[in-house]
Amino acid sequence: MSIIDKLLQVMPKGQVSTQTDHLNVDSKDESTLEPVIPLAVVWVDSAEQISDIVKLCNETDTPLTTRGAGSALEGSTIPSANGIVLDVSRMTDIIQFWPDDLQVKVQPGIIYDNLNDYLKSESLFFPPSPGGSGDIATIGGMVSTNASGIYSVKYGGTKDYILELEIVTGDGIIMKIGNRAIKRSSGYNLIDLISGSEGTLAVITAVTLKLAGLPEGRLKTAFKFESENNAAQAVSEICKYGIDVAAIEFLDKKVMEALNLLKDYNLQEVPALFLEFHGSDDVVRSNNEMAASICEELGGSELKLSDGQNPWEIRHYVTDAIKHRKPGYTILRNDVAFPISKLPEMVSYCNALSDEYKIMIHAFGHVGLGLLHALILADKTNEKEWAQAIEMNDLIIKKTLKLQGTISGEHGIGVGHKNLFALEHGNTVTIMQKIKKQFDPQNILNPGKIFDL
Ligand SMILES: Cc1cc2nc3c(=O)[nH]c(=O)nc-3n(C[C@H](O)[C@H](O)[C@H](O)COP(=O)(O)OP(=O)(O)OC[C@H]3O[C@@H](n4cnc5c(N)ncnc54)[C@H](O)[C@@H]3O)c2cc1C
Repeated sequence: MSIIDKLLQVMPKGQVSTQTDHLNVDSKDESTLEPVIPLAVVWVDSAEQISDIVKLCNETDTPLTTRGAGSALEGSTIPSANGIVLDVSRMTDIIQFWPDDLQVKVQPGIIYDNLNDYLKSESLFFPPSPGGSGDIATIGGMVSTNASGIYSVKYGGTKDYILELEIVTGDGIIMKIGNRAIKRSSGYNLIDLISGSEGTLAVITAVTLKLAGLPEGRLKTAFKFESENNAAQAVSEICKYGIDVAAIEFLDKKVMEALNLLKDYNLQEVPALFLEFHGSDDVVRSNNEMAASICEELGGSELKLSDGQNPWEIRHYVTDAIKHRKPGYTILRNDVAFPISKLPEMVSYCNALSDEYKIMIHAFGHVGLGLLHALILADKTNEKEWAQAIEMNDLIIKKTLKLQGTISGEHGIGVGHKNLFALEHGNTVTIMQKIKKQFDPQNILNPGKIFDL
């Protein structure tokens, strides 16, 4: 019996589809990598169902790719050939809320912004706000990629908030890992293994998160600079002086141009930093003054946004703006991260590469974390140009590794950056491969992502 017949036998009506439109939607993520059409899509609503499906995949040797919202950027959500998609987007319940403990337990399909809307009533929030996808990214997807965001410089990334996970392993066993204690020294930290594993070790079926209190007040501001290099230097200085920034985002000149082209924001087309401070009125004001004086020493000054313009609304559209800048062109992306003092060197390196190859790079990111997205915009139909774009991307990653950084600060490896993974991790890849086999002996879960076995 085929996997599809078996799925139809165990799943309720309407939860398995082989319809072309459903298969097309789930054949891709938000990367520009080639889609792969799956055999079927299955919408699940419980850990027990997921366990049954994983067991069927083992029986029939069928690859399974778990899908939240499909907003991943490195192909980690693209199904394997002859595989099925396990879609958890209907598992959106808040299972339990403990406001006095600042904790919540949720199903994996709940969307980041929806969770925070719910938590607002108790003045709490889950901070690692993804810069442009908080309105679509699911909590399961965020755990699986260890997502971070504009507030991670102050509050940390997703991994820092996970207390407990319920998972289904690659052989279909339902397990609970962790507990609700916020500090523990009890055994190996399996949560840190699952978080960032891009669906290759287990399917996450429930997540208990710790939360943070909503800040008393917020001050949002923006600074402009004469050069990318000065803006980059200001980031390191602001962090070095211990100024309590909640968010510090870098947007280079080309990003500002692209935003104006997409949305008519009337922004000054100069390198910029967008910042936010959290705390009482006095605290945010004095933090802002200190940041302003550092920026001024580096030739920066306040960037006036038009009345009512919210820097985070503008920031939300960065990827879209780059995508639409040159019709027919394709984005080749990276999300490298490195020690924060290296930001000016990396920004200069990207500008020099762009000049040398005459191919556009747009750079931006959560730079307070030393995280930079240098998006290369090239014509994929022009073989020579696309090969050069790939070469530039590899050079940016290799430069990052030389500076003791990482290939991925937040998007993961997927299939997009598999080629250079061993360069970062050396002989520890062998240990990762062994761990994968412990969780998923038959290599059913999202095979071929991060590394090959
Ligand atoms: C415009 C834009 C801006 C973005 N900005 C940011 C940003 O600022 N920071 C950031 O970190 N990311 C960002 N992203 C990337 C993306 O939104 C995040 O990686 C997000 O966490 C993915 O969530 P998802 O629900 O879409 O996951 P999916 O794309 O569905 O899945 C991502 C990975 O997780 C696995 N997975 C999903 N759910 C589960 C589960 N329940 N159990 C096991 N594995 C699972 C999938 O198999 C896949 O490997 C951005 C994306 C876009 C399009």
